Amino acid sequence: LDPDEFRRLGHAFVDWVADHRARITDHDVQPAVEPGSVRRLLTDGALAGGLPETPQPLEELLRTVDEVVVPASTLWQHPGFFGYFPANASLASLLGELLSGGLGAQGMLWSTSPAATEVEQVLLDGFARALGIGEAFTFDGGGGGSIQDSASSAALVALLAALERAGGGAWRESGTDGRERVYVTAETHSSLAKAVRVAGLGARALRVVEPVPGTVSMSPDALAAAVAADIAAGLRPVMVCATVGTTGTGAVDPVRAVAAVAAAHDVWVHVDAAWAGVAGLCPELRHVLDGCELADSFCTDAHKWLLTAFDASLLWVRDATALPRALSITPEYLRNAASESGAVVDYRDWQVPLGRRFRALKLWAVVHGLGLDGLRAHLRGHVAMAVDLAAKVRAEPGLVLAAPPSLALVCLRADTGRGPEADDAATRTLVERVNASGSAFVTHTVVDGRYVMRIAIGAVTTQPEHVAALWQRIRADSAALRREPVQ
Ligand code: PLP
Repeated sequence: LDPDEFRRLGHAFVDWVADHRARITDHDVQPAVEPGSVRRLLTDGALAGGLPETPQPLEELLRTVDEVVVPASTLWQHPGFFGYFPANASLASLLGELLSGGLGAQGMLWSTSPAATEVEQVLLDGFARALGIGEAFTFDGGGGGSIQDSASSAALVALLAALERAGGGAWRESGTDGRERVYVTAETHSSLAKAVRVAGLGARALRVVEPVPGTVSMSPDALAAAVAADIAAGLRPVMVCATVGTTGTGAVDPVRAVAAVAAAHDVWVHVDAAWAGVAGLCPELRHVLDGCELADSFCTDAHKWLLTAFDASLLWVRDATALPRALSITPEYLRNAASESGAVVDYRDWQVPLGRRFRALKLWAVVHGLGLDGLRAHLRGHVAMAVDLAAKVRAEPGLVLAAPPSLALVCLRADTGRGPEADDAATRTLVERVNASGSAFVTHTVVDGRYVMRIAIGAVTTQPEHVAALWQRIRADSAALRREPVQ
């Protein structure tokens, strides 16, 4: 492609995206496809002879995307998508992605693309201030932020920094010795268990701390007891992960009290606020981040609820030297005067991969195009919809809230009056019926052993009418189920 041809085709591709988004509700949120069907369509069709040996017109790709890819895609940008947590890919962020790909910069070192590094630094400092997590997390304040590919990677590198600190650097030479311990709760995201495994600590390193009675949030007293017992047993507490907005129900650990316990034993505090952390942009919601200013690392995903296309996980550390100390390895070919001057940040030392994309451009496009006020309006709109939905659930016979609503997440279940098994079966049927409708998609969790429907409001285009339509369906299905004879 030369630039002129790119311009011509680029218009067609942008038109395709615009049309797809404009008509997204013509499609079901979730496709009804059998495993292997896409492979079969491709190997019998567009890729029947294997990969093309000769150049093919790129317009043809759009046709195949329409015929094969879209019908087999779960449409996360559909306003009826209420599953998991959202994966916002606003059109503004796509324009930023285009700039990033257009520049094609690889920002592993400051010197390989000074702008990629410094734009990211300025944006992350700005977001640390806008979220209110504290000046200590900014580069100006001695800490700093980086954009990782995922909250999972963020947890892994935070753990590696914690291991480095706990071992006084010995970990780099000798690795782990089986005495390291990492504290989580039963509700902590599985990415922490994965980080523990990838770091080579083994599952025995994971200590599941009891919750505050009657909640699922980490008990600071139980944490203190676990840490004290482990130290007495000759083990080495390395990191505690506090969650702000658990994946199941959006529960929040008491970060301030957890951090106080950790501080007494110099244990690294990582806050996983992958979904909920962005709520800190709204002063009236910032209470969910109480105590996060005391953490050693804090992560929130712009690619979940902050309008930024995957991938853009924002990770801050209060000590800008912590990640490079743990991760920096410098072969000769990466040596350069700027790095050696100590005056620059080399983001390769803040992550596992060497190479890195210029992700900051898409985040910049989002905040430039909407302003912080626009981001707040996006979040507030969804929270208001969730408040309204939760009130309706409370007032509805046959349905109950399965957990306190959290920001834009509502968890509900059937209450048949016929016991837990009947409730679970009814809730499962409700989830299946919503998803079979094609106009909405929800997922489930288990709370206190009970099957629960999760409604995570947060797609870019979700409006009150989409939540109202979902509610009408749930209500009607729930009423119909109550009229059905007991099996
Ligand atoms: N932490 C929490 C609380 C999550 O809910 C999720 C995903 O939903 C993750 C971590 C993992 O996010 P990522 O896909 O960015 O690794």
